[in-house]
Amino acid sequence: MAFESLPAVPDHSALEGEILESWELEGTFDALREQNRGGERFSFLDGPITANNPMGVHHAWGRTLKDVFQRYKALRGFDQRYQNGFDCQGLWVEVEVEKALGLNSKREIEEYGIAEFAERCKERVAKYSEVITEQSKRLGMWMDWDNDYHTFSDTNIEYIWRFLKAVHERGWLYKGHRSTPWCPRCGTSISQHELFAGEYKELEHPSLFVRFPLKERNGEALVIWTTTPWTLPANVAAAVRPDAEYGLRDGAWRLASEGEEYDHLAKGEDLVGLEYEGPFDDLPAQQGVVHRVIPWDEVSLDEGSGIVHIAPGAGTEDFEVSRIHDLPVLAAIDESGRMNQEYGEFAGLTTEEVEQPVIAALRERGLLVEAGRIVHRYPTCWRCGTPLLFRVVDDWFIACDEIRQPMLDANATVEWTPAFYSKRMDDWLRNMGDWNISRKRYFGLPLPFYPCECGQLNVIGSRAELEERATGGLDQLQELHRPWIDEVPINCERCGKEVRRITEVGDAWLDAGIVPFSTLGWQNDKWIDGGFATGAAEGLSGADLPDHAYWEHWFPADWISEMREQIRLWFYSISFMSMTLEGRSPYRKVLTYEKLLDETGREMHRSWGNAISADEALDQMGADVMRWQYCEQNPSQNIKFGYGPAREVKRRLLTFWNSVKFFIDYANVEQWTPGEHGQLEPLDRWLQSRVEQLVAEATDAYERYWTPDIVAAFERFVEDLSNWYIRRSRRRFWDGDRAALHTLWTALTRSLVVIAPVMPFLADHLWRVLRTDAEPESVFLVGWQEAGERDEQLLAEVAETRRVVELGRQARSQAGIKHRQPLRRIVVEGAPRARAHADEIGEELRAKEVEFGAVDASQLRLKPNLPLLGPKLGRRLRDLSTALQAGEFEELPDGGFRAAGHDLAADEVLVERTGKEGWAVAGADGVTVALDTTLDDELELEGRVLDLIHQLNSMRKDLGLELTDRIVVTLPDSAADLLKHEDWIKEEVLAVEIRTDGGIAEPEIAKA
Ligand SMILES: [Zn+2]
Ligand SMILES: [Zn+2]
Repeated sequence: MAFESLPAVPDHSALEGEILESWELEGTFDALREQNRGGERFSFLDGPITANNPMGVHHAWGRTLKDVFQRYKALRGFDQRYQNGFDCQGLWVEVEVEKALGLNSKREIEEYGIAEFAERCKERVAKYSEVITEQSKRLGMWMDWDNDYHTFSDTNIEYIWRFLKAVHERGWLYKGHRSTPWCPRCGTSISQHELFAGEYKELEHPSLFVRFPLKERNGEALVIWTTTPWTLPANVAAAVRPDAEYGLRDGAWRLASEGEEYDHLAKGEDLVGLEYEGPFDDLPAQQGVVHRVIPWDEVSLDEGSGIVHIAPGAGTEDFEVSRIHDLPVLAAIDESGRMNQEYGEFAGLTTEEVEQPVIAALRERGLLVEAGRIVHRYPTCWRCGTPLLFRVVDDWFIACDEIRQPMLDANATVEWTPAFYSKRMDDWLRNMGDWNISRKRYFGLPLPFYPCECGQLNVIGSRAELEERATGGLDQLQELHRPWIDEVPINCERCGKEVRRITEVGDAWLDAGIVPFSTLGWQNDKWIDGGFATGAAEGLSGADLPDHAYWEHWFPADWISEMREQIRLWFYSISFMSMTLEGRSPYRKVLTYEKLLDETGREMHRSWGNAISADEALDQMGADVMRWQYCEQNPSQNIKFGYGPAREVKRRLLTFWNSVKFFIDYANVEQWTPGEHGQLEPLDRWLQSRVEQLVAEATDAYERYWTPDIVAAFERFVEDLSNWYIRRSRRRFWDGDRAALHTLWTALTRSLVVIAPVMPFLADHLWRVLRTDAEPESVFLVGWQEAGERDEQLLAEVAETRRVVELGRQARSQAGIKHRQPLRRIVVEGAPRARAHADEIGEELRAKEVEFGAVDASQLRLKPNLPLLGPKLGRRLRDLSTALQAGEFEELPDGGFRAAGHDLAADEVLVERTGKEGWAVAGADGVTVALDTTLDDELELEGRVLDLIHQLNSMRKDLGLELTDRIVVTLPDSAADLLKHEDWIKEEVLAVEIRTDGGIAEPEIAKA
């Protein structure tokens, strides 16, 4: 048989296209699943990707990791589900659809029509789930693509209803009235975890110092500081810190500073209770409000005036304070962030538009002390980037106090990779507030809450229950979404009155959080074919709704993997829901990873021109190169992704490619077929052990879910394979040595299986080139072979030998001796295991003799450590320096030195070890290699011969000669003395004849 020969450089994209076709044609993935059916389970649960835009290169990182470990487990024979998930509803989808339709407010959505809007949302999801599927396939991701779960399926929604009903039965569900972060563009409140998901941007705002005149204290006023002028018309109180000292000067009270003169000093507590005139008491909103000074321990003494203006309707902390002091709550802005009607001249203005009128009014009233600008970090909406405001609104919450400790306990049973993320999860759980689950939006999970004026909160737990209690509207209920669901009123279970659903939809993390139950058929009596592809998901997928036995088999997940941000999001929500429904963690192990940046370490932004789309990366780099970048990255650090790193990966993969190509070229020349092997040599036995070591190292890393170690183990192996085994065996390949061909073929095919999960395309391509007809067509059907026995002694010997050679090369280059120049002698100290490989060391370093023993070829050089000795010796330092420079010192037993009459401690001198005259020395970690650098005529001549051989072989390559082609060489007269080594040269360059010609300056060759 002949192996298909390889081009000089792989065309990753083309090769990947061919492999995708082969997989499709041969049904490789199906065959693999069939082969593993009934095997031990490996339960992976996919966190859904939002089907809203094309996949990004940051998504590709996570999707690569998911695929790597699923492929590894498949090679090991594990049975798996391979269900991909799409997140389909909620604010993400709505905002993108709004953009596409040119809608920019909730009013415009309602004018457009909620039903039509829902259809556009579904179309977008359908489109992008298709796009992401194609991109994921191109990335090499093997999933059960026709059976994805879509979170907007009616089945998924019903499962969430069931969860909410359970939450309600436990008494955890409540309607809260509080000040929450609010996006004025999206017109909805933002929950705690969404607030973290948003960006803090550097924004410029006004910085105002304002007088609040005290009543009954003629001419005295408080000075407050604010960066939000729009909140001043809603002011109701001013807070001071009770234990802080305040000073009065020029009629103004503010925090007293050390060393300043004041007319009066007072503790904060002495100011408490004073009443003042609000800045906008004439506004209708302010009627009846009595402004007073309140105590608050949280008043910051680091910025502003030490007196905080309190507007409970416009800030979370202000709102909390208002509850303690029973302050009125004035709502300043409406849904869209505009000032409410009761704010007179300011009514209808946005918080930004109102800034100048407020400042002007303050100035006119003589209340403005100082107006400046400030740049500070300010939270923005995670979806649309609009700066957030605060509003007091009614939202629905799930109380989390009772579940907090169980969730912490459950987290203690989870194995996190990297391990420290476990603590991050704990931190989040300890600090999480009640879960705000309602959004005042349109296309999302309809919250099944039907409050009745009799006081009863009706919560519907399933579609069947809804149908049973409905008083109408069922015939138009095409799916469980707005507006259709809103047209189905029900009977109140207590008083029987007709009640309607609240209009809010749910937090998207409910949608994704329920999947450990909804997709696995928890508590479902019997398997329903296509039972998950319901409602909006109908026609998009064929996913079944399995039965409870299936859930019992696959729950909890053995392993999940998402980015670190998901600690507050998906990891949290699946855990919350699972602890509520089943009381245990829905996953056992989790791998998480950081953010993707561009190759210079900046965030990628389309507007900055440094973003790389996944399609572009797949075309330009190829999937394997992308996957390699992701896998070599330590997941606890941000990845710097880009074309520079991609080129570097390609270069390293090329080394492996070249090794395979080298094998194929020689095997074809020799017409070698797998199975033929002669007598193995020690180097062959070493490679056999070395590949088993690779398998062992990689297995260990895969089992730890740690891709950087898999990649590193493979790269070390390739380095050993290429720069030791192949390089040292060239002559044998040349001679058609069967043992060498056999050993190399075995090592290559075995290593391909190991690395296939990381670079599936290149590995399968090379497998297909190398495999015998008796073996499976795809490397993924080969199965994982455990690491076999290996000769640890031999591995250690060669590792040490390679270290000696490395140091020898280092010494050579430091001394400026050419790589090809032969040397007379080298001395090696401290590498006892390399002794058996003295010949190899000699060849590698081109030394005629290799000695093992003490290196006395080096000498100590001492210099005074000036910062220590300068102060100590003063003028006497000069004598010491002179002595040290002349080498006049003796070593003391304690590691110190004596020179010029001084006893010096070890740290008082700087020690350097250098080669003595005529020697080059390098050492590290207890191994020292010394080269005798003296060259005689004979060595110099040999050096020139080696240069010539190298030159002639390069010329052969440039001429495109075959490995077996013979040549005739013509040398200039100047090189005639090299003919002393004519036979040697002939052999090395496959020359049949060497002539000389006085008419040329450079050697020439011709095919014989
Ligand atoms: Zn927004
Ligand atoms: Zn009722």
